[in-house]
Amino acid sequence: MAESADTIKEIAKQRKPLSTEFDKHWGKDDVRTALWEMQHHKCCYCERERDKTRESDIEHFRPKAEVTEVADHPGYWWLAYCWENLFFSCRKCNQEYKKNFFPVADEQKRARTENCDLAEEDPYLIDPTQKDPEEHISFDWYEVKSKSDGLKSTQVFATGRTDYGKKTIEVLGLNEDELTVERAGLIQALKSLATLMNVSQLGHGISVEERAEEIRQATSAKLPFTAFRREYFRKVGLGKYIADD
Ligand SMILES: [Zn+2]
Repeated sequence: MAESADTIKEIAKQRKPLSTEFDKHWGKDDVRTALWEMQHHKCCYCERERDKTRESDIEHFRPKAEVTEVADHPGYWWLAYCWENLFFSCRKCNQEYKKNFFPVADEQKRARTENCDLAEEDPYLIDPTQKDPEEHISFDWYEVKSKSDGLKSTQVFATGRTDYGKKTIEVLGLNEDELTVERAGLIQALKSLATLMNVSQLGHGISVEERAEEIRQATSAKLPFTAFRREYFRKVGLGKYIADD
């Protein structure tokens, strides 16, 4: 890995390294497996569960060779092999939405060289290891008419609580049709569990503690769409029972 990093560094002294000049060590199985397992087999952005190799990418959070917002930016080439800059993502999020976008709150503070302090930069996109996405993104569900057949169905939409949340939703397409429908597929099960908890709270059926364990399991970080699952229980007044793993 060091070799490639050194080569890119040499090129960067002369000119902007091209995307094709990077050795793609990040695509190797050991890197992919480690990220995939760390992220509970989920895309870092949309939280869909994804097979380790099919329809998935190893994503550079800070784009390595280009920054769409700034034409003359050389790309964050010095982070190409940096573990903290790599995530497991689905191909759709990476290739159709994220691409080389990397919006920041203040362009004056954008890092342009390896000597810049990344802590100074204020990225709009949420890095799930630095910011808790749940503090920035909420979810709402309601009936909408399908564009194709005109039939009404419930869909679940991400809504930004903060500018970071709003920009992340916009850039990553977190309200694209497939996603809003996929999230909605969980509603029936979550609603049943909430109803059963209400029954337990009234002193019927199994105890509140036992039901709370079921809610914790249903909102674990190991499952797809954890952020929505947790928001569902918060919105129906059962937020105190959600998992905190
Ligand atoms: Zn995704």
